[in-house]
Amino acid sequence: MSKGISLDNYTDTYETLLKLKRELKCRPIYIWGAKITGGAVCSVLLREKFENVKGVIDSNTFMQGKKLFGFTVFSPEYFWNIVKNSSETPFVIVAAAVRPKEIYDICSAHGLIEDKDLCWADDLLGPVYEVDLTNACNLNCPSCPQSNWKRHENAVMSLERFKRIVAHIKKDTPNVAYIPLFCWTEPLLKKDLAEYAEVLKREGILGIISTNFSLNVPHLEELIKQKPEYFRISFSGYTQELYEKAHRGGNIELVKQNMYKLRELLDKYSPDTFVEVYYHEYNYSSKEDLQAWKKICNELHYTLADFNATINPIENIIRILKGEDISDIENVLNTLNFDFRDKRYPDICDHPELCYSFKNMFCITAKGKVLVCDCVYDEKQALLADDIEKTTYNELMLRKKDNKVCIDCLKYGIPLYNCALSSNPKSSVRKIYEELVGKE
Ligand code: SF4
Ligand code: SF4
Repeated sequence: MSKGISLDNYTDTYETLLKLKRELKCRPIYIWGAKITGGAVCSVLLREKFENVKGVIDSNTFMQGKKLFGFTVFSPEYFWNIVKNSSETPFVIVAAAVRPKEIYDICSAHGLIEDKDLCWADDLLGPVYEVDLTNACNLNCPSCPQSNWKRHENAVMSLERFKRIVAHIKKDTPNVAYIPLFCWTEPLLKKDLAEYAEVLKREGILGIISTNFSLNVPHLEELIKQKPEYFRISFSGYTQELYEKAHRGGNIELVKQNMYKLRELLDKYSPDTFVEVYYHEYNYSSKEDLQAWKKICNELHYTLADFNATINPIENIIRILKGEDISDIENVLNTLNFDFRDKRYPDICDHPELCYSFKNMFCITAKGKVLVCDCVYDEKQALLADDIEKTTYNELMLRKKDNKVCIDCLKYGIPLYNCALSSNPKSSVRKIYEELVGKE
């Protein structure tokens, strides 16, 4: 790992943030993108006391008119109208994970110039820390480390410890982007989840919930009263027969009931919450199932995003690419829409910056241990620190450079399969990807 990541990355993002604050003074700022990255930018600007944020822009009609961290979400058309009628050129922060290049081109066509009138969210956002509050899940999905890897020892993160960890992260990296309350576990197994969400609210940090929703959730009301900005539901299949192939132990009817219950609670307590359904596609998935879910999601005003399912953790993918015996996971690989062994990508070992998660992401287990990112699971191989409270971002990054899982992962180009690639067209990550792999 001779070449590689600049350890100044974090310092760079925080300095960029402070520089923007100094230079933009009273100029109107708009954030383009109302999902996770946009929410992260809003929260970071608020924490740094930017006073000139005027709004958020998003083409998703389920978002328009809502508030994100108190800022109204406008349609692009409305925004350009504001620009047309204003004497001041706005400053736009592109915070869209999807189609950022398209947004950049639209802004350029309207005369906005990069760095002068426009920057990327990656330029100013600090790292993401995914935190597991328990080590358990109610399901046993074959593609998940909960089923196909040695399970973590029983553990639950206490509220007091969580508060200390959040305070530590905020002090160490004040521009922390966001803190999802899950990695490979089901957060709604914690009946007191609302109290953890409240900690993040108080600290002004975007918290993310992702659930399989295949469990009884009498405590959902308390959580929704906390007005979460973003809520994700993750599954595949519409019928029980297809659903339980990938979500072993789950009940699709319960998922549906909970989705309707969630809408009632959102209408009552938190109409601004953005709900996204992550729909995983396997080679046996049916188009009819996806269409049926699209109809329900439209009715409930949830956005549906479909993805090719993959297998995790990365330690398993490394086994595949090393040519080791993988008979224990062959049944999962046979259900995927692609084959890891197709050797699509050349060796990229010397380019850790290819992976977005490499410099921006850590996973914290329920015991407080730090693992290299949210796609790994093995507490021995992927471990960076035994206790998040006793380490810093810079120490973690130094250890990441030498971590064997990261080295193997990069060597085999796994971030490319796992979508850990930054979609910011300006970033070195995208540039290197295009040089090495071509424009796909
Ligand atoms: S994929 Fe999600 S729902 Fe399935 S076992 Fe893993 S953590 Fe649980
Ligand atoms: S290189 Fe692989 S293991 Fe390392 S952070 Fe990126 S995705 Fe995770």
